[in-house]
Amino acid sequence: MSLVADLRSDTLTRPTRAMREAMLDAAVGDDVYAEDPTVAVLEQRVADLLGHEAALFFPTGSMANQVGLRLHAGPGQEIITDHLAHVLRAELGAAAALSGISTRSWVAERGQLDVDTALAVMVPDGGAYQVSTACVVVENTHNFGGGTIQPIEDLRRLRDATSEVGVGVHLDGARLWNAHVATGVPLSDYGASADTVSVCLSKGLGAPVGSLLVASAERIDRARVWRKRFGGGMRQVGILAAAGLHALDHHLDRLAQDHARTRHTGQRVAEVAPGVVDPANVHTNILVLDVGAAGWSAPDLIAAAGERGVRGYPTGPWHARFVWHLDIDDAMTEHAGEVLADLLAHRDRGGEPA
Ligand SMILES: *Cc1c(COP(=O)(O)O)cnc(C)c1O
Repeated sequence: MSLVADLRSDTLTRPTRAMREAMLDAAVGDDVYAEDPTVAVLEQRVADLLGHEAALFFPTGSMANQVGLRLHAGPGQEIITDHLAHVLRAELGAAAALSGISTRSWVAERGQLDVDTALAVMVPDGGAYQVSTACVVVENTHNFGGGTIQPIEDLRRLRDATSEVGVGVHLDGARLWNAHVATGVPLSDYGASADTVSVCLSKGLGAPVGSLLVASAERIDRARVWRKRFGGGMRQVGILAAAGLHALDHHLDRLAQDHARTRHTGQRVAEVAPGVVDPANVHTNILVLDVGAAGWSAPDLIAAAGERGVRGYPTGPWHARFVWHLDIDDAMTEHAGEVLADLLAHRDRGGEPA
């Protein structure tokens, strides 16, 4: 086995030589004093792209999300989102542990936003009896949902309905770049659908580190205080901002290649094992396979694929996730398609039938 396609996550990308060279030449200063010129350029550029006044650079997307939520809600207040949301499932209870925020959720198949359900769960003014909802969180694209895109019309309708009753919207846009490239919807249109937006440079864009929170200048001033309080004040991080600027210059448009490779692989699997994936649900760079439908358990399928050089991640007992990114080329994609199609076409080799 020589060819290894590591499809566990798009966080696995390693900085290219050109990116490292851009980092080497970056002008730097102390960013806690707001004196790092490269960070300032990156923050303004991302704020402009999303059509907001200001942005703030963060070490991680989780911290950008959690500071974003903290701007909307405090102890005893509530945010609501879907049951697969990253802020609920993969940030280790931070909203409760760090900010005393309580959460409620609704069930969303594949993470697809259902505006009517979100609005039905929302309690704009609970008075002295029920918890009032401070903020609705939307994830676009949706990670555990399988790279699901939220249609801009739905985001607009949610924004209109929430702003009418004074409820905020936070957009977890770790992969908003993928939604933008796949749909052609301008980033500023997505930006206009939320009060606060987080974006990651460290996923498909291929930077080693870095996320931003985007909002009004007033909110970003407050976010700067919370970032320091959460331990995220960084010093000469212009070297990391330079990687982010390089990623925006060189790695944004190429996300379309990741999407094409993901779709291609999804189609290949669907041809031999139709119940495992519906190609219409493969929106971007994440392929979630219902391997239980082909008689496999997720851990067994992941182990069998791993032995043949294709690495994935089990998102549940019967679901396996494969994510395309900068370090995966056509040859690796062909190899992954061949291995997955071969394993999934042959039932009864894995675990319990579904
Ligand atoms: C990766 C990710 C984040 C942030 O993750 P970090 O590892 O903290 O940078 C946030 N939201 C979603 C949907 C993600 O996929």
